[in-house]
Amino acid sequence: MTTTSKLYINGEWVATDSTFAVTDPATGAVIGHAADATVAHADAAIEAAHKAFPGWKNTPAHKRSQLLYKWFNLIMAQRDELAAILTGEMGKPLMEAKGEVMNAAGFVQWYAEEAKRVYGETIPHLEPTKRITVLKQPVGVVTAITPWNFPAGMVTRKIAPALAAGCTIVLKPAEQTPLTAVRLVELAEQAGLPAGVINLITTSNPAEVGTLLTTDKRVRKVTFTGSTEVGKLISRNAGETVKRVSLELGGHAPFIVFEDADLKKAVFGLINSKYRNAGQTCICTNRVYVHKSVADEFAKIAAEEVAKFKIGHGLEKETTMGPLIDQDALDKVSAHVEDAVGKGATLLLGGKRHGEQGFFYEPTLLAGVTEEMRIATEETFGPVAPIFTFETEEEVLGRANNSQYGLAAYVYTNDLGRSIRMSEGLEYGIVGVNDPMPANAVQAPFGGWKESGLGREGGHHGIDPFLELKYISTGF
Ligand code: NAD
Repeated sequence: MTTTSKLYINGEWVATDSTFAVTDPATGAVIGHAADATVAHADAAIEAAHKAFPGWKNTPAHKRSQLLYKWFNLIMAQRDELAAILTGEMGKPLMEAKGEVMNAAGFVQWYAEEAKRVYGETIPHLEPTKRITVLKQPVGVVTAITPWNFPAGMVTRKIAPALAAGCTIVLKPAEQTPLTAVRLVELAEQAGLPAGVINLITTSNPAEVGTLLTTDKRVRKVTFTGSTEVGKLISRNAGETVKRVSLELGGHAPFIVFEDADLKKAVFGLINSKYRNAGQTCICTNRVYVHKSVADEFAKIAAEEVAKFKIGHGLEKETTMGPLIDQDALDKVSAHVEDAVGKGATLLLGGKRHGEQGFFYEPTLLAGVTEEMRIATEETFGPVAPIFTFETEEEVLGRANNSQYGLAAYVYTNDLGRSIRMSEGLEYGIVGVNDPMPANAVQAPFGGWKESGLGREGGHHGIDPFLELKYISTGF
């Protein structure tokens, strides 16, 4: 028998009339049910957050910090359980899920500290009998909307800084992965967060419920991670009442390998940046540019290494790649590969669905890819690496920047000057130089340029979007 989760509103776990099924993407089996919130539930959650705001805002920062530390300790104590829930509903291998839970806990720990460091300023006035002081105060009620590809990390990366700043929250996780969020909120309750400070809405109807959560006047900020399409919609919704908005959206990362690079290291980098999470990561490589003189050798080593992936259920010990999230994802990845092959790309490895059950796709490598193929501009969100070739630094920089997206980029070179020119020239929020994992750092300001987003999450920068500035001019 599977369990049915509830909503969490004003410190109470609330059952709903209807529920929706949560499935294991590796098998298609139903593993649980989640409460299906209506607009009325969302309204009650906003009201609870609104009522709890004055109390939480006025709770001393040290007290908020202590509560965040308690939450952090509980997440750490339950990390194996959380990782198993995460793999069950999302599919990533257990080792990756454990890494994600550690990262998620890391955000809570970081912002437990940051809560105590929200300082103001004193500005000298032109008149000797006046002073200007600058205060940072919490924005108010925050709606947090999260995607399925990092069901734990995306929740704490938003909620921990919001709580640290003194904001109250309505959290709406993705409908594919509500159970990890439910467990995280249970642990927050256990940590002693007061009623109404965090409210959880799970729903199979994100458009209707999401509209209220992003338009209601009581909500003063929306923090969203997901597709660029929905991000733009949310931005328009929030604009009606000039809400603060943070957006972490799609990406189309270039991965550039120069002729002077250590090719084995570059292939290792590709394995990590492209195939981790079965390629379902916003910062994962989408275009591999390899210098013409080393392209054949790079492709040969890459094909040997990529062939070593062990596809399977994320809970099986030897699995190194899990399934895609659902049928839509499988259809999109298949369509991108068919389009590329149809337009002349060469399939070096993979290129089809794996097995009959679940939503697995073979790790795939394509050579001879050109700009007019869909894969060259659209986010594939699957384990497919398309290889392009280039001849000069200037040319590859121009091609890498020729994208609506600007989240992450990767450069492999042993030439110091080139690494500096490239990393300064790339129009991206995050650049990994000989580093395929630049974003697993809770202390760094994660975020995108162009249509990849707005604002930053992580580090000391990540609390600012939840704070308003106010200055006070005092005469005496
Ligand atoms: P999605 O946009 O479909 O869904 C994201 C969230 O938005 C979900 O919770 C969903 O229920 C909700 N939603 C959908 N329609 C809504 C509406 N009309 N109003 C309010 N909320 C709505 O994205 P996804 O498929 O879950 O996630 C994959 C996307 O997320 C990819 O494009 C990926 O690049 C991006 N992503 C970005 C980052 C980043 O930090 N930049 C991180 C992870 C994922």
